[in-house]
Amino acid sequence: MTSRKRTQLPKLPPTPKGDDSPNKSDVFNASERSEIMRRVKSNRNKSTELRLIEEFKKRKIVGWRRNVRLFGHPDFVFPKLRVAVFVDGCFWHGHRCRNTVPKDHADYWRIKIERNQIRDRAATERLTALGYLVIRIWECEFKKANADLLEEKLRPLIEAACRPLEDCLTKEQISD
Ligand SMILES: [Zn+2]
Repeated sequence: MTSRKRTQLPKLPPTPKGDDSPNKSDVFNASERSEIMRRVKSNRNKSTELRLIEEFKKRKIVGWRRNVRLFGHPDFVFPKLRVAVFVDGCFWHGHRCRNTVPKDHADYWRIKIERNQIRDRAATERLTALGYLVIRIWECEFKKANADLLEEKLRPLIEAACRPLEDCLTKEQISD
């Protein structure tokens, strides 16, 4: 049996070393902090996950499950294809596209983002070891300008959705 080719994910930058004294991050009390997290998380879930479902539908991608109990809590799991999909908010997960930390409470945010990156990396490694293809989609890849990036990331799902292959090819491609 030949091993399936896995999409190579970019390596995250190493965690910068700095003065991470814990009291520096202590700028919100516990309830303020959980309120911020709750608000950001629910907004993100509503918008980006629904947008990804739209993108799946456009491409006739089927077979996803949500809320699957897997390490790292992927946003979508395709059990038959053994694919796990995460949609990562650019700020929270430290994408370089807008990797600017607000001036206020900068240390708090930086530590938070670094923790998320460590968790993301661990989840990708663990799921890959379990035989999953892990697809991580950045929030900014839903922008029209980044349509090619999104298409490329969804390719394994598009290919799986398009069997038999003739169905995915245009008439021109078939006649070639
Ligand atoms: Zn981004």
